[in-house]
Amino acid sequence: MYVYLVVFVILSYLVCIRYIYLQHRRTLVKSLKCVMKISADRELNNANVTALIVTAHPDDECMFFAPTIIRLRELNVSVHLLCLSEGNYYNQGPERHRELVSSCAVLGIPNSRITIIDEEKLPDDPKAEWSTALISSVVAKHLRAHTFNLVLTFDGSGVSGHANHVAIYKAIRHLVSTGEVPNECTFLSLVTVGLLRKYFSFLELPLSWLLPSHFCVLVGSQGYKQAKAAMLCHGSQLLWFRRLYIVFSRYMFVNTFLVIPRGPKITKIY
Ligand SMILES: [Zn+2]
Repeated sequence: MYVYLVVFVILSYLVCIRYIYLQHRRTLVKSLKCVMKISADRELNNANVTALIVTAHPDDECMFFAPTIIRLRELNVSVHLLCLSEGNYYNQGPERHRELVSSCAVLGIPNSRITIIDEEKLPDDPKAEWSTALISSVVAKHLRAHTFNLVLTFDGSGVSGHANHVAIYKAIRHLVSTGEVPNECTFLSLVTVGLLRKYFSFLELPLSWLLPSHFCVLVGSQGYKQAKAAMLCHGSQLLWFRRLYIVFSRYMFVNTFLVIPRGPKITKIY
């Protein structure tokens, strides 16, 4: 009897995940237009959405942002990457640079839309304190040189807690709160979840879907395969725990974002 009950609960949970996935596919465009304040009757494509992902190291793009990049590319959105270091912690900078280019190609970001900053004062090092002023200046310069209207980056906990990730959020939060960014640009921060949720794989989807956020992006099995292929491009980083990460991390399947508020006003979560 208990066996039937357990099987019923498991099947119901999987059906629930399937329903969320289908619902997400139907509502993604509407949800993106809503968060970017684009009117419902306008097309969402290359012509009116240009997104920038700001990361700290080669592999951040696929470890943390793969579902978002994959979905945005499927919607024909132009996606750019600004990576603030070459990932030179173990003196593998040039190799990691090449791996990043390969990973981005898998995710749908061409080489011409990748910018990697190789700056001595922004080393790949969790113990290094990246200057908020320097990051702000690099990001602001990049924003001026392009016409992005969607910028996505880490939140104040940096997903993994890496100091370089956190420093990027602080700098972008500073830029946004002081109004040193284009008015028409929406800034989103990737929500950090606790350890249990983080390593609950796709089984975590219902929680991400139901808990409050401004923008939620999911991928199914095809998207997961693409994210995994991008992760495998980072051969120099593929230690055993990275392989476990590919299997168990919910960030391979889902991203949730909050709007980075302008000024001191707190944006309402719905
Ligand atoms: Zn990183």
